[in-house]
Amino acid sequence: MTTESEPSIATRPITNCRVCGTPGSLLYEGCRSRGFSAPGVWSQRKCPKPACGLVWLDPVPTEEDIGKVYETYYTHDQPKPLAGLVNNVCWGVWKSYLRHRFGYKRGTGPAWTSLLWPLALVHPGGRAELDAGAMYLPAPEQPSRLLEVGCGAGVVLKRMQDMGWEVRGQEIDPKAVKAAEARGVRVDLGTLHGQKYPANHFDAVHMAHVIEHVHDPAALLRESYRVLKPGGVLVVLTPNIESWGHARFGKNWFNLDPPRHLVLFSRKTLGKVAEREGFRISRLETTVRTCWVYGSMSRQLQRTDQANLADLGKPSALIYGIIYQLRERLMLRSNPDAGDELLLIARKE
Ligand SMILES: [Zn+2]
Repeated sequence: MTTESEPSIATRPITNCRVCGTPGSLLYEGCRSRGFSAPGVWSQRKCPKPACGLVWLDPVPTEEDIGKVYETYYTHDQPKPLAGLVNNVCWGVWKSYLRHRFGYKRGTGPAWTSLLWPLALVHPGGRAELDAGAMYLPAPEQPSRLLEVGCGAGVVLKRMQDMGWEVRGQEIDPKAVKAAEARGVRVDLGTLHGQKYPANHFDAVHMAHVIEHVHDPAALLRESYRVLKPGGVLVVLTPNIESWGHARFGKNWFNLDPPRHLVLFSRKTLGKVAEREGFRISRLETTVRTCWVYGSMSRQLQRTDQANLADLGKPSALIYGIIYQLRERLMLRSNPDAGDELLLIARKE
């Protein structure tokens, strides 16, 4: 129920599946924003076609009012690094892994540290977590341009710059743009379409947890295709609605995140949309990357009806998260759809 003090958000209905056009069935209703505050009561629909199964918010905040649902969102803040020594050791090992795995020689420390890379494999998230340290991209052999769509405060983009990429970020949040620029990363404020980047310009386009936030995911992929060079690579990360996490927590699955997540994909639906926009799929899988966060936050929602990112550092939340991640990783062996996150790597033909 909306209270008098809450600002109202203008909405518009989306009754039909935007992948296959089938009228959606109600999946969840009466959902309030939890974790990050936003006004309103929201519902999700699901496409009833077994071959599709897309999930989307209905109604959605309008393009004009969508900013109101991000007023307390986490991307405004700069992430806090771990304590000095722990951070340095972990990052040293991670960089050694990236050098070994993807051939990065710049920005990954002295050559002898290459020997440290096997230590990285103790991470409960395994390769999915570690490879994300270089956006799943191998070291470029010649000068190459990388665009990060929705780069936030530019933490990973700065690392990619240090490792040899010519980087560019795009971001709609002015606070995040300032934080990224303070890191020395070039970031353009506004939507991707608003930048009017030249066609056939970038060697790689990366977007992590962006596509589920936009009103027209197909148009986002279309614009990414246009700005990529032929042979250029697209990397997309987004929550997986067919995950074990969603099956386990249902309405309390953190990644539903109404009213900010407008559309939730599966391998089938994301692959279909990407292929429709002309991409040739190289990899399309589900992973356990950062799912310790999703598991722990979903458990908080289930228990207390609230979730706070700050509580993730509590020992009980950390232990739960690690066990959750290991469990989901084990599950992936028998069910390729179990992972909480989708990873799509595709090329422009
Ligand atoms: Zn559908």
